[in-house]
Amino acid sequence: MNAQALHRAATPEFSGWLEHTAAAGGCARPVRLTGTIAAVETTTGRITGQLRTDELPDQAIYKACGNRRESQCPDCSWVYAGDAYQVVRCGLTGGKGVPDSVGRHPIVFATFTAPSFGTVHHRHVARHTCAARQRCDCRPAPCRARSAAGTCQHGQPAACFARHDADDLRLGQPLCLDCYDHEHQVVWNHFSGELWRRTKQAIERHLAALCGRRGIPFVQVVTGSGNACRVPPVRVSHGKVAEMQRRAAVHFHALLRLDGVDPDTNALVPPPAGITVDDLDAAVHAAARQIVVTTPPHPDLPRGWVVAWGEQVDVRRINATDGELTDGKVAAYLAKYATKATESTGRSFTRLTPATVDDYADPEGDHLARLIDACWHLGRPIGTDTASGATTAEHRQGSLDAQPSTYAGLRRWAHMLGFGGHFLTKARRYSVTFGLLRDSRATYRRDQDDDTPGTITLGTLTYAGSGWLTEGDALLANTAAAQRRQARRIGREELAHEAWLTGAAA
Ligand SMILES: [Zn+2]
Ligand SMILES: [Zn+2]
Ligand SMILES: [Zn+2]
Ligand SMILES: [Zn+2]
Repeated sequence: MNAQALHRAATPEFSGWLEHTAAAGGCARPVRLTGTIAAVETTTGRITGQLRTDELPDQAIYKACGNRRESQCPDCSWVYAGDAYQVVRCGLTGGKGVPDSVGRHPIVFATFTAPSFGTVHHRHVARHTCAARQRCDCRPAPCRARSAAGTCQHGQPAACFARHDADDLRLGQPLCLDCYDHEHQVVWNHFSGELWRRTKQAIERHLAALCGRRGIPFVQVVTGSGNACRVPPVRVSHGKVAEMQRRAAVHFHALLRLDGVDPDTNALVPPPAGITVDDLDAAVHAAARQIVVTTPPHPDLPRGWVVAWGEQVDVRRINATDGELTDGKVAAYLAKYATKATESTGRSFTRLTPATVDDYADPEGDHLARLIDACWHLGRPIGTDTASGATTAEHRQGSLDAQPSTYAGLRRWAHMLGFGGHFLTKARRYSVTFGLLRDSRATYRRDQDDDTPGTITLGTLTYAGSGWLTEGDALLANTAAAQRRQARRIGREELAHEAWLTGAAA
């Protein structure tokens, strides 16, 4: 234990401090708030108690940062992953207000990938015999074997005969950086959310048309504005995560569940019997093949870029007879990826600014540097210097009289290689909300604290800073939190979640 920690632990207020910081205990970088907290009686509005934070240990309240990313805050991301697991799982099996009958709705787990933007080193195992995919030691096929190998126009070998280990740093790296289309990839990342949105609409359209052909009647419902209208008898609810591949293209894992429509209530009901999981499967394949987004014109490519899905989408059944893909595994898999961003590329970045971008972007640099450069270059304000011989540095600074373009988001999301979406998203109807889980956790804590019933706590608080005051404080608070968490880790679901996150395949 370090000297600062010993010093803190030796003070008479130490146990009070530990209790005071417990709510943010495991957090790597809690927020410190100062101000006044008041207890208010809900029936009368009378203030029954008041507390100024300068009477508290460290003259502040500690609040966990709540960051979902494991690389930023392991503890907060653990809490987030637990919530993500519950959100996904309740949509599969019911619970927490979602009816158990959802477990009998047709549902598939689909993976949508990006197309190729150039040849990269890869690892392909025809048939896995390993126990855990994360520590796969199966013998892979040669990377990019070609009989007439030769070189590309830049003199780089066009083939690779290596059998790459799973942790080989070359995986996901282009065979030739100059042949690779970095611009197309960041644009694809940026517009992948729109591609997904239209694909999901197309899935629903396919199913609606199928209902029509099979004579399954549409349902008359009353809309929010009071008008009656007829809607298709099936809806698709989804929960999905974005996962960044090693080559830094995003792909999506989505649970797609078929729901029915109740004409009278807004309840979750099973779809009509005439539509099955095979129909859902076929609709996903058809939509993924059919939907193509052409992006708006850009001075560098006036016809825009084509954004479509890559090789055929992978669609799998859950809880099928082979038992390979269970609801718990799928939920844990999605929860795990919900706590990651660009980490699989080997790097993680914070938001870039004109002052910091030159440290990361380089049109002649490595794969990631070129992707970041493409984001910054394509996302520049448009309207002036594009055709002139402006230098890269001038492009990076942008011109004062230029307008932000529809591609401006590429700059904002350059640290995510263009992807500006959320890593976990779900349809409103899919499951419980994160807010509900947070509220029930807060209620549970309040009950534990044995607050006076009929009283709410209000705060007038301002931000005072981030992080623990010393490394010693961080050590003490984090250790105490780890011990408490260990004691809390009970229950079948949490165990399943843990087992999958730390051990089994991925
Ligand atoms: Zn945190
Ligand atoms: Zn290779
Ligand atoms: Zn293997
Ligand atoms: Zn080349």
